[in-house]
Amino acid sequence: MNTVQRFLGQAVACQACGREHRVGVREALLIDDACERLPAVAAALGLPRGAVVIADTRTRAAAGAAVAEAFRRRDGSVTEIVLPDPPGGGGPVCDDHTRRTLDRAVPAEGLLVAVGSGVVNDLVKWMAVDAGRPYVVVPTAASMNGYTSANIAPTLKGVKSLLEGREPVAVVTSTAILRSAPAALTAAGLGDVMAKPVSSADWRLNHLLFDEFYCPFCADLIREIEPIYMQAPEAIAQGRTEGLEALYEAILLTGFSMTMAGTSSPASGGEHLISHTLDMMASRDGLHHDLHGRQVGLGTLFCAALYQEVFRTRPGRFRSGETRTEPAFWKGFADAVEEQHVRKRRRQTQAAERLNRESGLWDRLACEAGGLCCPPETVRRVLRQGGAACRLQDIGVSRERFIEAVDHAHELRERYTILELARSAGVLPERTPELVDIWLCA
Ligand SMILES: [Zn+2]
Ligand SMILES: [Zn+2]
Repeated sequence: MNTVQRFLGQAVACQACGREHRVGVREALLIDDACERLPAVAAALGLPRGAVVIADTRTRAAAGAAVAEAFRRRDGSVTEIVLPDPPGGGGPVCDDHTRRTLDRAVPAEGLLVAVGSGVVNDLVKWMAVDAGRPYVVVPTAASMNGYTSANIAPTLKGVKSLLEGREPVAVVTSTAILRSAPAALTAAGLGDVMAKPVSSADWRLNHLLFDEFYCPFCADLIREIEPIYMQAPEAIAQGRTEGLEALYEAILLTGFSMTMAGTSSPASGGEHLISHTLDMMASRDGLHHDLHGRQVGLGTLFCAALYQEVFRTRPGRFRSGETRTEPAFWKGFADAVEEQHVRKRRRQTQAAERLNRESGLWDRLACEAGGLCCPPETVRRVLRQGGAACRLQDIGVSRERFIEAVDHAHELRERYTILELARSAGVLPERTPELVDIWLCA
């Protein structure tokens, strides 16, 4: 955790981009007696007494009960809130309904303590920012990079949204707690951090094409940790300490990179658009979707293949953005998607015009953005050996369904990605089926 420690509570004057980067998290500990030590850690940080411990039924068993017991020993009493599972099965979700339930249950005073992973963390982060209250988090799985980021991804009126929250004051857990998480959750965390080569390359594309802010330091914050799990991903699959710790540290640093850069660009590019599209298709059809990081892993593999394919030959002419938002595909989301798509079309057209006009630009993209991505063979090996999803059958999505997701994902969000460049260069949608067959069905 040395790299993480270096940034805690710091404001760094960045040599690379000239901006100041801030990290709001003041303490991050991976220690054996995490639950027992948490009250002392909170006291040392001057946080309010009277803990409100929020968990779901599984994370309460993993750590929530022990955390509550530790605060009870110190304060004599504690408020424990256990989010119930919805009647239809599965775990709680982060949406407006659950948020209202939580608002009614949480007392107005006291330190908010989130014990869980994606959903519990997002709900507490959301509530904390609205109430202007500090919170701490006890991660129960190395499953996603949101513990140290300011992003919240709730579903509002059925639509997946993005809100700005604040980071926790402290993030405290133990390797034993992380190891007790279901293997699929840990492997999902690997899928989420593996997005970095694609998302940072996409970020670089936006810099080269639209002169957007880009910071190489933020883009490469996990460079010291990356080789540990890239070279020995099986340590994660086997739950070995060195693998889990490297993954967890990469997850915390990835969260830092987003807050430091003030954008999710260092950790979210075309691969996330594919995962968001799969989520929306599932919601459209009333189906369950797989874990975020498992879908992101497959999105990363596909986008890494695109980076390889797109830069093989220089296209004669670049196509501008002219696709329509298909109501038959997006159904109830069509209007919301069109709002984003209209901005994306503009970007795609701008990019195509520049590429058609400036002869040296393509080579710069190939070298500076393409050079940041890693070969799809490497992505596939790391995912497979790390026990993560690496084929469509692993996430229960058919070939046809994934092809549809790829061919519509570019309509989301304004940020330019390899998905749009591949469309401009004539690789997508023509060759989507071929690339899906080669990389995701083998
Ligand atoms: Zn910088
Ligand atoms: Zn993610």
